[in-house]
Amino acid sequence: MALKLYNSLSKKLEVFKPIKKTQVSLYACGPTVYQTAHIGNLRTYLFEDILKRVLEFNGYKVKHVMNVTDVGHLTSDADTGLDKVEEAARKQEKTAKEITKYYADLFKKDLKTLNIKFPDKFAWATKYIKQQIKLIQQLEKKGYTYATADGIYFDTAKFKDYGKLGKVSTGKSRIVHCVEKHRESDFALWKFSIPDEKRQQEWKSPWGVGYPGWHLECSAIATAELGQPFDIHAGGEDLLAIHHNNEIAQSEAAHDKPLANYWLHGAFMLMGKGKMSKSKGNFITLNNLEKEGFDPMAFRYLVVSSYYRSKLNFSEKALNNALKPLVKLRSLFSTKTKGGRVVKSYQDKFLKAVNQDLNMPKAMVIVWDLVKSSKVGLADKQATLLNFDKVLGLNLGYEKIPKEILDIAAKRKKAKENKDYKKADKLRALSASGGWIIEDTKEGPRFRKKI
Ligand code: AMP
Ligand code: ZN
Repeated sequence: MALKLYNSLSKKLEVFKPIKKTQVSLYACGPTVYQTAHIGNLRTYLFEDILKRVLEFNGYKVKHVMNVTDVGHLTSDADTGLDKVEEAARKQEKTAKEITKYYADLFKKDLKTLNIKFPDKFAWATKYIKQQIKLIQQLEKKGYTYATADGIYFDTAKFKDYGKLGKVSTGKSRIVHCVEKHRESDFALWKFSIPDEKRQQEWKSPWGVGYPGWHLECSAIATAELGQPFDIHAGGEDLLAIHHNNEIAQSEAAHDKPLANYWLHGAFMLMGKGKMSKSKGNFITLNNLEKEGFDPMAFRYLVVSSYYRSKLNFSEKALNNALKPLVKLRSLFSTKTKGGRVVKSYQDKFLKAVNQDLNMPKAMVIVWDLVKSSKVGLADKQATLLNFDKVLGLNLGYEKIPKEILDIAAKRKKAKENKDYKKADKLRALSASGGWIIEDTKEGPRFRKKI
């Protein structure tokens, strides 16, 4: 059952053919670590997690690299404005390193909470300055660059295939002359430090002291870690028009070969009428949801059961609706069984669905057909669901609740009967510190393992 993926480069559904027979190289644009990730960002990482899991489900070994942007991402895509990390450091009176470490740690915590597999490598932009300078030198040698008063720019008019991924303003707008750069679509490869700016992160280069442009890090890191071309490049749909077209331009101009063979883009998560974004301030973090008592796995369920190329509207109602089926799936594992076997007919249908461009809504229909089936016994259902969970990542499975936790729950029940709610809350906190969340449901307390 061939895996088919929608390639933004060809704008077609294509049969996936990796460069190596059994290994897939996957590059995903990572976070800019100056702020907490919001659940919209996390949707993109969940899409990439599903992609990676589906590749593994098909028997591939995946080499997954994600950059961590700790320098060079400016507040405006037009290469103007402030460096987001430097600005956060200044506002919070911290060092840039403190800021980036703090937010990268929070990001990793969110990934863990959502059971998103870590990449094989988190590649920090500041650790690849040499490679980035070298890439500019290669482009300079081939005549693709020019200097302005504030930096070194890529001349998009010289790269004949500029804008391969589409959505690029062509024609007139491409020859609009900006104050500094020659064309709107040209982009910074290196920006000079302004003498009285007092940047914390800057490096010497053949062109002067400064820092790399944001797009450059992905080209340099991807090629250094995965070679060129590599198999799949993924990211959110907002990155396609500028960031990814620019990555392609730099890498292909420098090396005269494709950067990646497949480009996959995840659609946005919306909230209310607009997109969820840090700059608009209309965003929710995973921590917000957890504080309000939502189960983070319900968020995972909500996202992974949607199709990655369709926009997803977030609401508390949608999250509550996702909790119900999740609880039902978990309840199927409250009894321990032995000797269950994966039911091939369901397995085949599930594989067919996920291989159709990660069609998770279809895959979930198979999951629920299996759950509802009166012909398949519990042991076989469990075995099959556990296999599906390699893709779903919902952490399904039987887990014995420790005796201490059951004791705490019994004491809490008594406290509640005596209307001693303070004590009940304390006991619930005690259980949580022991790694188990007690959730009250209509059918009585339910236990959920903390991740
Ligand atoms: P950033 O940390 O802003 O560089 O973004 C990290 C990732 O999140 C990128 O791949 C973006 O495309 C993606 N992203 C940003 N906002 C959203 C959103 N509302 N929904 C889905 N993905 C998003
Ligand atoms: Zn990137």
